[in-house]
Amino acid sequence: MIFIAGAGPGKVEKYVTRKTVHCFHCNNDTPWILEKTKYYVSLFFIPVVPVKTQYRFYCPICGNTRQLEKEEFNRMVKFEAEPWRAGE
Ligand SMILES: [Zn+2]
Repeated sequence: MIFIAGAGPGKVEKYVTRKTVHCFHCNNDTPWILEKTKYYVSLFFIPVVPVKTQYRFYCPICGNTRQLEKEEFNRMVKFEAEPWRAGE
C-alpha cells in the first residue's frame, strides 16, 4: 500500500483591525491584517493532523510582519478587529 503524505497550510482565518496601525517600514497608516494559519499533516491530500498554528499580524501594503502569540492574537481579534471580507 502506498501512502501519499505531506504537510502544508490548511485553513486560514483573516481579520482586519478597526483602527489604522502605523507601519514603520513603509510609513503608511492603514488597517493591518491578522491572520491565523493552521498547518496540517495530510494523507492522500486530506488534512488529518494539525501540527501547528501560526499567528501573524501584518501590513497589507508592504507585508511587514509581526508574529503573535495565541493569547495576543485572540485578544486583538476580540477587541480590535473584525472578519476580513475579501473583495468588499
Ligand atoms: Zn508597511
